Amino acid sequence: MDEARRELLDADVIIDAGAVAAVGKGIAGDLPGIDAAGCVVTPGLVNTHHHLYQSLTRAVPGGQDALLFGWLQTLYPIWARFTPEHMFTSAQVGLAELALSGCTLSSDHLYLYPQGCRLEDTIHAAAEVGLRFQPTRGAMSIGVSQGGLPPDALVEHEADILDDCIRVIDAFHDPDPGSMCRVGVAPCSPFSVSRELMRDAAQLARDKGVMMHTHLAENEEDIAYSQEVFGCRPGEYAESLGWVGPDVWHAHCVKLDAAEIALFARTGTGVAHCPCSNCRLGSGIAPVRALRDAGVPVGLGVDGSASNDAGNLVAEARQAMLLQRVANGADAMSAREALEIATRGGADVLGRSECGRIAPGMRADIAIWDVSGIEAAGSWDPAALLLSGPTTVRDLIVEGREIVRDGQLQTLDLPALVARQNQMARNLREAT
Ligand SMILES: [Zn+2]
Repeated sequence: MDEARRELLDADVIIDAGAVAAVGKGIAGDLPGIDAAGCVVTPGLVNTHHHLYQSLTRAVPGGQDALLFGWLQTLYPIWARFTPEHMFTSAQVGLAELALSGCTLSSDHLYLYPQGCRLEDTIHAAAEVGLRFQPTRGAMSIGVSQGGLPPDALVEHEADILDDCIRVIDAFHDPDPGSMCRVGVAPCSPFSVSRELMRDAAQLARDKGVMMHTHLAENEEDIAYSQEVFGCRPGEYAESLGWVGPDVWHAHCVKLDAAEIALFARTGTGVAHCPCSNCRLGSGIAPVRALRDAGVPVGLGVDGSASNDAGNLVAEARQAMLLQRVANGADAMSAREALEIATRGGADVLGRSECGRIAPGMRADIAIWDVSGIEAAGSWDPAALLLSGPTTVRDLIVEGREIVRDGQLQTLDLPALVARQNQMARNLREAT
């Protein structure tokens, strides 16, 4: 995934101080390192859209077969009971699952803060797991009583939202190259916040020099809401409030029309494509081929685990490839292009062009895939990782640090974490 998209056989990658120092054949000498013989080595995958708190509400009955709005209405009352401990544990589970599937950099979109929950519940979780993290301070401000979708108990006052955005940016945002934590600003969606909050949030983000994120044009209901309430399509609404530009990325964008695709291309606005979630909620097939052809930055997102329900990023990349083929034919997207979207593409969408490629000067975020096992047995082209090949990594390196070794997470006790998560899910279910 360097500029020339070279594929090197029997090459070495030299890592120094968290960055890639050199790539080439026979350059390792007797330096200590990891033997990756029999493996495909790729940049770490980048996840551009998630709601980590949702891993505690996978496969909730009542939400399993619903469309977006009905799905939300089933889940909101459960999420309203979450505590900081739920947020922390659920985030650890989501991030651990991502790490095992090759992800080295993830964003997150946390837009509800019941019972003292704060953005740092997820930031601390990411620091322990060891992934590079770009949490966004989400928000909802229009509850049911004002014509919105979420219950009033889950919405916040807009002044408080903006104050807390400033607080978390000042406390946790690190703009440096190699940063392990960058904070963004992310009102949940046009149907859960006011026009004023969208505008003020954009201004605040630009004053602070941070990225902006929201959900946009997810399905037909979403388009209908925009036309009925705002009198325009989502792209026009976003543009009128300052929500386009290289510092903005929108999740889903399943229903963007040709004019909106041109707008995104012209302004460098990014898209987080979430194919499994779009399938699961029956939202449709995002126009990824058209977006890429127009030059729109596209990354990949697993989306929250209440609508996927898996958080496996390399499987998500395969799904992206398959879905474009369903829509546009077998030559619509190659395995290599889907892997590019999952690595370089996502990094660019998150404003991290120093990630998502293995080349001198780039951050040392690397996934090592063992292709000697059953999944790739008989493959003539193991480097076409999304056609055959494992769906979990053998090793994962983030900022030069080994997070996964021999398929095992090195940073926390995974069985204990899973047990804690399952106990919490049981308690939530029994109280329902
Ligand atoms: Zn989402």
